[in-house]
Amino acid sequence: MSTKLVITAAFTLLSLTACASEEPTFAPEVLTVDVNQSILACGERIYVGAPVILWDDPVGYNAYSTDFHFEQPAPSVTAPERGELRYAPGRVDRGTGEVLVAPETGGFIALQQALDMFVIHYDVCGVSQTCFKVLHDRRGLSVHFMIDIDGTIYQTLDLRDTAWHARQVNSRSVGVEIANVGAYPVGSSDGAQVLGRWYDTDVEGPLITPPGDPKNLGILTPGFVGRPARGRKIVGSVQGEMREQYDYTPEQYDSLVKLSAALCRHFPKLEADAPRNALGRVSTLRMSEAEEAEFGGIVGHYHVSAQKQDPGPAFDWERFLVRVQTRMMSL
Ligand SMILES: [Zn+2]
Repeated sequence: MSTKLVITAAFTLLSLTACASEEPTFAPEVLTVDVNQSILACGERIYVGAPVILWDDPVGYNAYSTDFHFEQPAPSVTAPERGELRYAPGRVDRGTGEVLVAPETGGFIALQQALDMFVIHYDVCGVSQTCFKVLHDRRGLSVHFMIDIDGTIYQTLDLRDTAWHARQVNSRSVGVEIANVGAYPVGSSDGAQVLGRWYDTDVEGPLITPPGDPKNLGILTPGFVGRPARGRKIVGSVQGEMREQYDYTPEQYDSLVKLSAALCRHFPKLEADAPRNALGRVSTLRMSEAEEAEFGGIVGHYHVSAQKQDPGPAFDWERFLVRVQTRMMSL
């Protein structure tokens, strides 16, 4: 059970006890101070200021494990064998084979030199629990962070190690998978089906209605109801094609802003900016190889792969980047 759940349970119990005996109750804030709010890089803690569940937490997701996290999936071309690694220890230059950060012993300064990209993905799975099932158990892949719809940040690997999430930029990057079912070509029946299954609308606007039993989705905030930050479907161009998608939740943006600001603050080659076009707007296209080699900062998966669209047209780049830059001033 996570610290957060223990705390919630303890608070409920205290409240009930207190009500029965008419004793004063504890303020919830007093009980939530020890929720972990830091990530790990080369074994050192970096303060983020949002809830973080590490890989060794009983409700965490461990990318170091060479076993299946859930049940062993049916054999397929992408499924890993039991005992196989889903990541690469340390950081090795892709071109030269030079060890940039040594496995197990590589330090923070070496990592500061090696790391110059933060790659943002959407997971297409909708919730982080399913994301880890697909990445770890079915595809033999990994990512450093996942952000669930309630804003919980899961760290699955120390930043010293290379996650397998964005091919040619893996050794120089940190990756995050944000829970969201993704973007679809406007008017496609596939998109209408998926978005129709995952979103409903009530008097307050759209809300996330994940299929299946809410208790089996792994969301740590009890009774959480997720709503897109903007109350309408967002349509926009990625890689030159118009797509539609619901926005991320405010809780996800809050956590991503805090995580990004902490990373940019501690890793000087990570600029708090994204690739921009000639008009000064965040680019909606893949970078050229030369641009990619030169760039240091925050990218969407689509900036480094022509086949990808994530984080999609609903990701509010300009507002996000301003918030990251503002947050950095307070760190
Ligand atoms: Zn991706």
